[in-house]
Amino acid sequence: MTENLFDKKLQKIKADGLYRQMKYLLSPQGSHVRIVGEDILMLSSNSYLGLCFDERLRKAAHAALEQYGTGSGGSRLTTGSYDIHKRLEEEIAAFKGTEAALVFGTGYMANVGIISAVASKSWVIFSDRLNHASIIDGCRLSGAEIAVYAHCDPADLERKISQFPGRPGLIVTDGLFSVDGDIAPLPSLVEIARRHKLLLMVDDAHATGVLGKNGGGTTEHFGLDEGIDIAMGTLSKALASEGGFVAGSHSLIDYLANTARSFIFSTALSPATIAVSLAALDIIRKEPAARVTLCEHSLWFREELRTMGFDVADYPTPIISIVLGRPDVAVDFSKRLMENRIFVSAIRPPTVPAGTSRLRINIMATHTKGELTRGLEAIGDVGRALGVITS
Ligand SMILES: *Cc1c(COP(=O)(O)O)cnc(C)c1O
Repeated sequence: MTENLFDKKLQKIKADGLYRQMKYLLSPQGSHVRIVGEDILMLSSNSYLGLCFDERLRKAAHAALEQYGTGSGGSRLTTGSYDIHKRLEEEIAAFKGTEAALVFGTGYMANVGIISAVASKSWVIFSDRLNHASIIDGCRLSGAEIAVYAHCDPADLERKISQFPGRPGLIVTDGLFSVDGDIAPLPSLVEIARRHKLLLMVDDAHATGVLGKNGGGTTEHFGLDEGIDIAMGTLSKALASEGGFVAGSHSLIDYLANTARSFIFSTALSPATIAVSLAALDIIRKEPAARVTLCEHSLWFREELRTMGFDVADYPTPIISIVLGRPDVAVDFSKRLMENRIFVSAIRPPTVPAGTSRLRINIMATHTKGELTRGLEAIGDVGRALGVITS
């Protein structure tokens, strides 16, 4: 029974070129990884600072395992809160310059929990068209009316807001967009939110540890000390750990701890994970040089791609999108790179809008110039072979 039902659905997914499979790593997530015994250059990791095998983080995890054991044994409001959970939340608040913070099991759970707790049926949520799926799911779960505005377009946001005069509302946006690699126009959004008395929420999953002098994210990138009511981020990308967080006022955090269902009804993150996050935060604050390298590498890599004839923007960010259009072209490009032992993900709908399937390259601070050059050469060769570039 289920075979027929789901095989048919799978056939359709395959026919549309949207079937996805996992690739299993046999090594830590670094600038090189092992897959089926081969050494592969990794150009698609969210571990932007290359910290997943960092000795200091592994030591922090070991120490926490010895002191606290493995599982946390309960949800945060019952028996799962440890002293280090509290310390991590204090450190995140200091890092983001807010009064308080709260840690969730994942970034996905944070977004779903925060948005559905904050917005209710009488609200309107103004959401950027390219926001992450976890934001979209949070909006839907809240039951609020959802007004999607054009990507990074304050003028369209204003138009949408004018259609809902006097309604309570929330503006929500990715800080650093996870597929295009561009940065939301936060100063304009802050001004608009203030003028219309709306709350503003920024998801800095990709920017945390990556943008801003101290790695504080897009808010720090723009030098914004205030105006962001709800600052969300994740510990799972540059911080090489796991978990999502929200930073904001005491009252917001206390409210979320009491109402966000993905916080209340889920087991607390294990002490080892929390210890890794604490150690990673410390590294991120103390080692700005890695961020400078990451930015330089990213700008250089983009420039080289453009020189070869690829249509690539010049954002100062490590997420580089080469839009190819059709999903089969993106998959073919990615496969051919893998034959050259280079891992670059093909990103297809539903992650991106139809017709904008692409390669997504993620630069890491730990890539050498030599590795990046090898990647560029292979991307150029495959691009020519597939007729994406001509020269
Ligand atoms: C990755 C990501 C999330 C989810 O974070 P996880 O910790 O991986 O669950 C949320 N928002 C954005 C923009 C992301 O890129």
